[in-house]
This record gives sequence, structure tokens and C-alpha cells, in this order.
Amino acid sequence: MKKTGTISKKLISPPAPRVGFVSLGCAKALVDSERILTQLRAEGYEFSGGYGEADVVVVNTCGFLDSAREESLSVIGEALAENGKVIVTGCMGATPELIRSKYPDVLAITGPQAYESVVNAVHKVVPPLHDPYLDLVPPQGVKLTPRHYAYLKISEGCNNRCSFCIIPKLRGDLVSRPASDVLGEAERLVASGVKELLVVSQDTSAYGIDTKYAKSDWRGREVRAKFYDLCEAMGELGAWVRLHYVYPYPHVDEVVELMADGKILPYLDIPFQHASPKVLKNMRRPANQEKVLERIASWRKICPDITLRSTFIVGFPDESEEDFQFMLDWLKEAQLDRVGCFRYENVSEADSNSLPNHVPQDVVEDRWNRFMQVQQEISAKRLKKKVGQTLKVLIDEVSPEGIIGRSAADAPEIDGVVHISSKKRLLVGSFLDVQIEQSDEYDLFGSVV
Ligand code: SF4
Repeated sequence: MKKTGTISKKLISPPAPRVGFVSLGCAKALVDSERILTQLRAEGYEFSGGYGEADVVVVNTCGFLDSAREESLSVIGEALAENGKVIVTGCMGATPELIRSKYPDVLAITGPQAYESVVNAVHKVVPPLHDPYLDLVPPQGVKLTPRHYAYLKISEGCNNRCSFCIIPKLRGDLVSRPASDVLGEAERLVASGVKELLVVSQDTSAYGIDTKYAKSDWRGREVRAKFYDLCEAMGELGAWVRLHYVYPYPHVDEVVELMADGKILPYLDIPFQHASPKVLKNMRRPANQEKVLERIASWRKICPDITLRSTFIVGFPDESEEDFQFMLDWLKEAQLDRVGCFRYENVSEADSNSLPNHVPQDVVEDRWNRFMQVQQEISAKRLKKKVGQTLKVLIDEVSPEGIIGRSAADAPEIDGVVHISSKKRLLVGSFLDVQIEQSDEYDLFGSVV
């Protein structure tokens, strides 16, 4: 058989960006350097042997002894003089004012173990080459959610020790991501077509406590890793921003003001879990305040459109009928919009397993049914008030079975939806105004305006 010639296509790509890297200090700093270099290499960066040929220089500093600080500062000075574009990371990054006072022209300063921040800072100075033939991962990363919404994790772990939960045992204490990393990821997601960012963590309102609200550079200004500051900055991105797992700490009030101003969605997901002070104490819940009902009233005063979502547990050990009734009364008073309810069950290694007076299963079941009935009535009443209103809706699904969207009051997967009738062709991921015509316990029904 005659062998035919193969057509070869020569791909001419621009030269790979080059990073100069100086690693100072101990073995821990060296491991940090290796992780940063590995990530950069995986993204296609090359490394240069000298300052001159590099597009940017990263200096991983050591601040253990005075002499080590002196050496770090002198290397930064050298890199600035010979290259001009310098990013500083490592132990001295924990005292950025010291570096800035001597070298104000340094492009970015990040602390130890802030791998993502260093890599993001490099991206800003010299972006990685996107090679569609080689890159397996799009710039916004691999996502499991539909294209138009995405979960954004702002921290790992938790400083609380709720007795029914083993997350702190599994994931350790709170570790917050730098604000610039979170915001950088949010920007990439929005640029890739995401219309709604769902902010998640174990304890969203505690964001940044572990880093003492460290500042980092974003869009040419410093943003603190603080709940309010992060929400305010995310509000600039033009996407819906929805907050999950917020505890009613006092500083949540100022975030509700951002909601009233239309900067982020008027929606708070607050896992109250119970209302009885005795049960909450046994649960060791954070922000266990007696005045939560007053706080809720004041949030509604600041932002009348706010949607409050929560979850509760019925049948927690030693929950008496009186405690349960207290929770039902509280629920009637609180008039929450969306509520999920779990039946208590022992989780292996949770401290609550050893609490006395476990509630019999048939009692748990009975309480769950009574709880759901009370909440369904509240939810149906609150949804009914929306009939006649025109709501902005994000389209989630268009199929022969129907069109489904969500308003500002509905988080994906956990809340109700808006069933839409329309003669027009609608696109998933688009926003529309929908006139609400009917409601039931969970969902709304309406037509496109
Ligand atoms: S706040 Fe949440 S994650 Fe943290 S211990 Fe309590 S239940 Fe677990």
C-alpha cells in the first residue's frame, strides 16, 4: 500500500514568560518556593538564571534573624535595580510596611505559604500563555456547577466546636484565603460567564479572623480579608453575590446595609440549628445570642427585601418537649423565608453522642413533622405576598418539561424555584423580569414580562 504523506501543522507560539526566582531562608521556605515553582511550571512559565532575562522576579524572603532580614532586603534592592519588576513573598511578607518603606516600587507583597497569592501576582505582571492545544484546564478552573453560577470558597476549617460536628477534627481551625485570591477567582469566574457567586465556608462571617484581616492588593488597592470588605469588593463585579453559612455576629449588620444598597443579594443563609438557649448551649453554637429575634427585626428594617434562610435540628439529645415548643414559637415569631430541618443523628466521633437523654426516634419523627408543618405555613404565607410582583429571575433550566429560574430569594439546590411560562425562546443563564401569578409552599409561578 502506498503510504500517503501526513500533513503537519507547525504551531508557532510566542515565547513562554520567564520568572526569576530567589529563595532565601529555611527548609520550610524552600518547600514554599518549590510549590510556587511547581505551579508556575505547570502553567507554562520558564525560569531564568539571572535578573536581566526575567519578565518578573519573585523573592522568597526570610525574616528569622536580623541578619536574614538584611540579606532579604538587599536581594530585593538588587532585583529592583537589575529588573524592576519584583514580587516579595515569605516570612518578611508578614511585615509589608517594612519592605514598602524601603522599596515602595515592589509590585506585590504576600506572606508565608500564600502560594496562590504569589502565583496570582505573577499572572498580573506577566499572564501565562493560554495554549488551547495543551491546556486541559480553562482559566476559571474546572467547575461542577452549571456555567452561570459557581461556589466560591473563602476559607477552610472552623474555629468553633459545635458538639454535633466533626468538621474541625477533619479540617482543622479556620484558614482564610487572602482577599486578593478570592477576588481574583471571582473575577475569573465572572469573566467566564458566571452570573451568580455563592460564597461558602464553614463560618463565612468569621472570614479573616485567623489572618488578622490581612490586606492584599486587588485592582490597585488594598483589600482587607474581612467579611464586610470582601462583600463590598465582590459587589463591584456585576454578578449576583449570595452569602451562605453566616453566623449572626454583630458585624453582619453592616453587610445587610450593602444588601439594602443593592451591592450584594439581599439573602442570608444563617444556620440557627435551634432556638432554645439550653439546646443551643448543649450544641455549643457560636453567636448564641438571646436577642436574635431583635436582630432579625432590625435587618428587616434596614433591608425590607431580605430573604432569611436557615437550617434546624430536631431531636438533639436532651431536647425536651418544652425546648421543642420554644423553637416552634420562635419560628412563628421569626417568620423565616426558607428553612431546612434535619432529624438529629449521632455522627461517629461527635461529642454530642455522649450527651445524656437521647430522644427516641418516634419522638424525633413526630417533632420533625410538626416542625415542617409550621414552617410550610410560614413559607406559603410569605411566598403568597410575592404574587403580583415582578421579580428579576436567573434562568436555570429550559427543557420540554418547562422553564425554571430563581429570584434573589432562591439559592440553587436548597430553596424553591420560579416556574416560568413564556412564548419566547429563553436562554439558560440569562436574567428576565417575571410577573408572579401563583405560589405554593415552596415555589412561585409566573410569566415573562
Ligand atoms: S460552625 Fe459549622 S463547621 Fe464549625 S463546628 Fe459548628 S457546625 Fe461545624
